Amino acid sequence: MDDHDVSPGPKGSLRKFLEQLSGAGKAIGVLTSGGDAQGMNAAVRAVVRMGIYVGAKVYFIFEGYQGMVDGGSNIVEADWESVSSILQVGGTIIGSARCKDFRSREGRLKAARNLVQLGITNLCVIGGDGSLTGANIFRKEWSGLLEELAREGTIDAEEVEKHGHLNVVGMVGSIDNDFCGTDMTIGADSALHRIIEVVDAIMTTAQSHQRTFVLEVMGRHCGYLALASALACGADWVFLPESPPEEGWQENMCIKLSENRARKKRLNIIIVAEGAIDTQNKPITSEQIKELVVTQLGYDTRVTILGHVQRGGTPSAFDRILASRMGVEAVVALLQATPETPACVVSLSGNQAVRLPLMECVQMTQDVQKAMDERRFKDAVQLRGRSFENNLNTYKRLAIKLPDSQIPKSNCNVCVVNVGAPAAGMNAAVRAAVRVGISEGHKMFAVYDGFEGFAKGQIKEIGWADVGGWTGQGGSILGTKRTLPGKYLEDIAAQMHTHSINALLIIGGFEAYLGLLELSAARGKHEEFCVPMVMVPATVSNNVPGSDFSIGADTALNTITDAFHSSLMLLKERDSYPEFCIPICVVPATISNGVPGTDLSVGFDTSLNVIVGTCDRIKQSASGTKRRVFIIETMGGYCGYLANMGGLAAGADAAYIFEEPFDIRDLQSNVEHLTEKMKTTIQRGLVLRNESCSENYTTDFIYQLYSEEGKGVFDCRKNVLGHMQQGGAPSPFDRNFGTKIATRAMQWVSTKLKESPGRGKRFVSDDSVCVLGISKRNLLFQPVAQLKEETDFEHRIPKEQWWLKLRPLMKILAKYEASFEVSDVCQLEPVRHRGPEEQAAI
Ligand code: ADP
Ligand code: ADP
Repeated sequence: MDDHDVSPGPKGSLRKFLEQLSGAGKAIGVLTSGGDAQGMNAAVRAVVRMGIYVGAKVYFIFEGYQGMVDGGSNIVEADWESVSSILQVGGTIIGSARCKDFRSREGRLKAARNLVQLGITNLCVIGGDGSLTGANIFRKEWSGLLEELAREGTIDAEEVEKHGHLNVVGMVGSIDNDFCGTDMTIGADSALHRIIEVVDAIMTTAQSHQRTFVLEVMGRHCGYLALASALACGADWVFLPESPPEEGWQENMCIKLSENRARKKRLNIIIVAEGAIDTQNKPITSEQIKELVVTQLGYDTRVTILGHVQRGGTPSAFDRILASRMGVEAVVALLQATPETPACVVSLSGNQAVRLPLMECVQMTQDVQKAMDERRFKDAVQLRGRSFENNLNTYKRLAIKLPDSQIPKSNCNVCVVNVGAPAAGMNAAVRAAVRVGISEGHKMFAVYDGFEGFAKGQIKEIGWADVGGWTGQGGSILGTKRTLPGKYLEDIAAQMHTHSINALLIIGGFEAYLGLLELSAARGKHEEFCVPMVMVPATVSNNVPGSDFSIGADTALNTITDAFHSSLMLLKERDSYPEFCIPICVVPATISNGVPGTDLSVGFDTSLNVIVGTCDRIKQSASGTKRRVFIIETMGGYCGYLANMGGLAAGADAAYIFEEPFDIRDLQSNVEHLTEKMKTTIQRGLVLRNESCSENYTTDFIYQLYSEEGKGVFDCRKNVLGHMQQGGAPSPFDRNFGTKIATRAMQWVSTKLKESPGRGKRFVSDDSVCVLGISKRNLLFQPVAQLKEETDFEHRIPKEQWWLKLRPLMKILAKYEASFEVSDVCQLEPVRHRGPEEQAAI
């Protein structure tokens, strides 16, 4: 791409970047330490490739600190290809270990000797708080260690001077999400995927029996996995270390279980964190809970302990993207470090990468444990961070229905409608909106089949129990249509009048946004529309103005990466056993080959069709070579989000999108680039193409171009993913995002309605018609009138899209000389102790 690089940002900023932040002459060591987690490999890959890109040498340090202490063949220079094809692999390819030696100064002296001999003075550590603490101690001791090495004659004074200080940057790899300072650690989302796959399997297979499942998930000191999975599956009860159940919980839990049974629920789910305790700090075990349910209620009860399954399998799209972003950021942080800057950790706040002082975060993490030990549980929850607290409050609110006597009556009627194409997570959002609405005293109405259904009077009151079990279901249970309200204004106003609707919550995509604009414009004519109206974005295309993310986009991304990697697995089998080229044999082989991501995961049934289809085409092709390039077409209309982020998550070589126009010269340089790459040991190429990126450079055209130009080097497969991206079970992220964002929207509705005690206030100002979106670190309500300016209506996309900034990153990681925007790099900031009113973004 070089000269034709059209990524955003001023031309020549690559040169500027390299001048400012050259890695020439520097050496970076990268290691993974402590418990392994999915996504660590993506982080390693990003560090290696970004390091090489800025001209530094990068060294693998195998087996964590043990390899650093032992030295020799444990520290090896990495090259570009040494991190090929690891993006989709779980665990860590450079190994991880616990290391006793490193805890002693003697051990660290050995480690310093090994590093300094290779000139490594930059260290990137991927691990938990223990590993990061070790790194910080090492950094502080470094100059003393070097002096000692000089005294013993290992190095000379000049080297002591030259390698005088050690820069340390940490990334948190931990499935537990147990580190303060980041909303998500690398691996936590994938672990949630594993847990939810199991819960979904239990739910679908156990319907014929009345059973109670006690599911124990990891988290000896941290309840994140338990809490987030309880939220994602609507569990009946959850046990966490940070928030022990109140005295007398045994009875309360049994009452809740039997109440749910009385409502004809056949299945109870109880989730227990490994480290669950009661208010006296005594462990609560799964067996104990089972005992209780069996003796008190006599229910058939099974305990499932998930164990290491949670660390297994392919990393989710979210983890791959997170780890890739963090890895690049870590290298930049190392290059910018000075002896004065403290060791930092790169982390995530909302949708924003941030750098925080490492030790302050470690301290806060340890404070949580201390608070729990001292039974200050409120503090423990607060110290965990705003996202954790928000999860806990949301869970409690949605799982337990208050007795009617405790609910204040608002005398308001609020209706919920789905608009646009179905997106995974919509149902979770409806469930949350309905339950929060009821608990705030409103009467909730559901509209079926979008605005069209609304006009026809398909509107009905909906109750707490009606939305039970909705979180995990794909598609839209209410039914959704793309129709805009414009031609039905009279009828919709009449329905709103008949049912005395006081507020409207719309869950949908770009049509929902257009619909809001139309309703708002019709306020002058129909006073029924003078009520608070809010939409939460739900669309796989992620093209709603006013939000970085929309519900459903994460699920679609996972489908894209899954489809690609399933295809890879198939090909691997095929290469070694050509006689296995019948579709039906290959699928079980994939499962037995340990790709849990494909056997139960999101959209399995639909990706099965793709797999079989891909396999058919492979069977028909005459192959003489093992090298292959996949051309995959993604959905999204004119919005390139899925292609771009799918590309980042799957390690694509190119992703063609509408937002970044390309011409024949770009195509040529891409093909040449890929051909060169495929002449090395790299065997697989991936090219993504957004469905509307170009009118004439169609998927077929690109397929043919690559096929022709790749002759003799590689052959091509193409795959149009189509509607499978909309279906499937929603990913944990989509479920919880949908739940939390709809909860906030409903709270906004209530606040607005409280502004007008009694009915009948007319809401006419712009700020009573809003989109609720996530922007950087915050959830924001933005008036649609204001967002109009920011919308490209012709192409149905926001004029500015945050993820375009990640485009260079994808290219750099695919070995292009793309320009990297220095201006977007984050700065070290203090750890924020938030006020009680500050809300979590996600
Ligand atoms: P995690 O990084 O997942 O929290 P551990 O606490 O087991 O896992 O730490 C991993 C490794 O980091 C340890 O085996 C040890 O080598 C190193 N380490 C942890 N704490 C310290 C410390 N206080 N000083 C030196 N090294 C440490
Ligand atoms: P929710 O699951 O949405 O929180 P409730 O609190 O009313 O709704 O019911 C909880 C119980 O219903 C849980 O035990 C849950 O596992 C169970 N459940 C979830 N989905 C289904 C389903 N499809 N059919 C029967 N029970 C279900």
